[in-house]
Amino acid sequence: RTVYVNGAYLPEGEAQVSIFDRGFLMADGVYEVTTVIDGKLIDFDGHLARLERSLGELDIANPMDRDQWLEVHRELVARNGLDQGMIYLQVTRGAPGDRDFVFPDPDTTAPTVVLFTQSNPALVDSPKAQRGIKVIAIDDLRWGRRDIKTVQLLYPSMGKMMAIRAGADDAWMVQDGTITEGTSNNAYIIKDGKIVTRALSNDILHGITRAAVLRFAREAQMPVEERSFTLEEAKAADEAFVTSASTFVMPVVDIDGAALGAGTPGPLAMRLREIYIEESRKAAI
Ligand code: PMP
Repeated sequence: RTVYVNGAYLPEGEAQVSIFDRGFLMADGVYEVTTVIDGKLIDFDGHLARLERSLGELDIANPMDRDQWLEVHRELVARNGLDQGMIYLQVTRGAPGDRDFVFPDPDTTAPTVVLFTQSNPALVDSPKAQRGIKVIAIDDLRWGRRDIKTVQLLYPSMGKMMAIRAGADDAWMVQDGTITEGTSNNAYIIKDGKIVTRALSNDILHGITRAAVLRFAREAQMPVEERSFTLEEAKAADEAFVTSASTFVMPVVDIDGAALGAGTPGPLAMRLREIYIEESRKAAI
């Protein structure tokens, strides 16, 4: 695989980052994941806008403009012959000479930029989407700025492991009795034809897929309510699903061991999945 590190395209085994990098020492960095279908980028400008915002919230200067970012993404797709999969992008505050809580001077410490591809031929025709996923509920023990897409993913990773050990696929996190989101996706329920998902705030990541899916739902005359919902409400819902760049719309069929409806992917979730894939494919660049 050819990867990108600080201006250079290199075989992955030759790419290097300093041990003093603040991403490594302090999780001082942000990331984006952009999906590739048919060798094209899904919602590239949405991901770039969120990258810009995440960097701004952390006072890290964006090291490249839109066209430069686009060129690196396309170059990696081409060099790796990527048809279906994703591009991971990470920007950290860089590697000053020492470990220090104080931010380094940006004039002498440049951000570290890393991008790589990951192939996944089963994104569109996903066996997982056909059967639906099971989730368990866990406490949301993350920090309070989940709207910034930082590389600090330890708790979500632990949550995913708790789910797998419990025989499920993922965890929905609960704060003050309501669901915030999944470990790496936004969470939704459907009751009486109405799609319910938590409103945007610092409590959740502002999903790029969420924005697109809500837009498509409204265009298809599906009612949408942006509000918090409880775990009990979720268990009594007709359908549930999650969204993320790499899973699109993924139906949820079981919460804490209790099947939702018939225990199979719901019709509205599957319809949204089809619409999302079709429209995103058309708009890919
Ligand atoms: N919430 C969290 C916590 C996530 O990690 C992700 C995916 N990175 C999402 C939501 C979904 O965001 P997107 O649709 O932009 O992939």
